[in-house]
Parts: sequence; C-alpha cells; structure tokens
Amino acid sequence: MSAATAGRRPLISGNWKMNLDHLEAIHAARDLGLRLQPADVGPLDVSVHPPFTDIRSVQSVLEGESVPVALGAQNCATEDSGAFTGEVSPVMLAKLHVEYVIVGHSERRTLFGETDAVVAAKLQAVLRNGMTPVLCVGETVDERDIGLTEEHLANQVRSALTGVPAEAVARMVIAYEPMWAIGTGQAATPEDAQDACAWIRGVVASHVGEEEATQVRIQYGGSVKAGNTGELMACGDVDGLLVGGASLDAGEFVEIVRAAARVPR
Ligand code: PEP
Repeated sequence: MSAATAGRRPLISGNWKMNLDHLEAIHAARDLGLRLQPADVGPLDVSVHPPFTDIRSVQSVLEGESVPVALGAQNCATEDSGAFTGEVSPVMLAKLHVEYVIVGHSERRTLFGETDAVVAAKLQAVLRNGMTPVLCVGETVDERDIGLTEEHLANQVRSALTGVPAEAVARMVIAYEPMWAIGTGQAATPEDAQDACAWIRGVVASHVGEEEATQVRIQYGGSVKAGNTGELMACGDVDGLLVGGASLDAGEFVEIVRAAARVPR
C-alpha cells in the first residue's frame, strides 16, 4: 500500500442510468456473476446501480448467485415517506439491501434542477438510512476554461457536507465527474483527475478534518473504459471509478474491474 492511498479500499461502480428493463437487468446481473470471480474483485469493492424498477430483480440475482457485487441506486427521495408522488424512499432502498446511493449526479443537477440544497438533503437521507452516499461533483467545460474548477468543486463539496458528522464523511464516497467527460469519450487525463481528486480531499480536510479526508474514498468518473482504467487508478488520490456507458457491457465492466484490481495500492 502506498502512503498516499492509506488503506482506502477502491470502489468500482457501474451506473446503468435509464437502461435495461428488469428482464435485461436480470440477464446483465447473471452475466456479471458468470464472468466475475471473487478473485477478480480481490482488494476492491464493486457496485452496480440499476434503475429503480430493476433493483428487486438484481438484488435476487446478486444475493441468490453470490455475485461479488454490491447493490446500488442512482437517486432517492429526500424524505423517508409521505405524499411525494413518484419518489422512491431511501427506506425502501435500504430494505432491498441497497448499499450505495448516487446523489447529485450531473444529469440530476442539470436535467432535473437538483440544487446543492436538494443534493445535501438526499445525502442526509441516505446516511440516515444506513447506506453509503456517492456524492457526485464536477465542473462544466466553461468553468474549467475560465479557471473556476477548484472553486466550483469546493462549493459543491462544502455545501453537501455541511452538517454531516465527521465520522459519516469518513465512510462516504465522493465521485469527481467533470461534466465535459461524461458520455463524451473524452476522459480527463490522469494528471487532471489526480489534481481534482487531491483538491477535493484538501477541501474535506479543511471543512471536516485531516483524518476524515484521509479515509474518504474519491472516485473518478467520465468516459472510463478498460483501456484507461490502469492509468487513472494509478493516481494516488483516485480511489475508484464511476462508470456509465461502459458498465452496460458486462465484458467491458469486468475488464475494468480486473484492470483496477491489478493496480498496486
Ligand atoms: C456517469 O454517468 O456517471 C458516467 C461517468 O458516464 P460515462 O462513463 O458514460 O462517461
């Protein structure tokens, strides 16, 4: 283990977005189970984040067939129950053994108007129900071009973490996802991913504490493939990957997991 990674267990997550109906999802989870052996996972955690309608089916496959992959969700409500038509409660997700919930994905922020305040409330809802939030943050290409990346990331991180107990911050996951890299085929360079993840860790250190900053896991996301996994995972402050499009292909996703597991930490 390098000093920089300090024993943080990398997390490789597959965000299926709004793809795969429940029958296709069962097939995808089985396919993953056939291809992915516990030895492939080794020193990593792996999660998949299907659409809500697939979660029960995927849970049955992962648990019934002992697939070494944790169940995740892509979003959840801010409240536990009540008159919130069309929402899915974090209590319901926890009941289905969901372990990781993505909050503040850039598609939620830009397409569905989720503000920093809403993202913070969702993060609290996930923690309140014993699950692990995967907090997504990331700048637009315009913010990067005019030198506002660091300020934007700091604002997003501070706003989401305000009021979160330090020990909960230490156990959560932050995903650095530059918006210009999501679904574009243009991943950040390892240098840019490392700089941004190190910056985020520094923001956590100043806002919460050094100890928590050393423990929090920070993923990189944006056009990750098997081919760029090794170089991204070799960055000292990159503790895993949030994978969108490539996670829909079980073969490619397994290659990403294997490539990540090969990188010494
Ligand atoms: C994502 O949606 O979080 C993502 C990183 O997508 P992609 O891997 O397709 O860029």
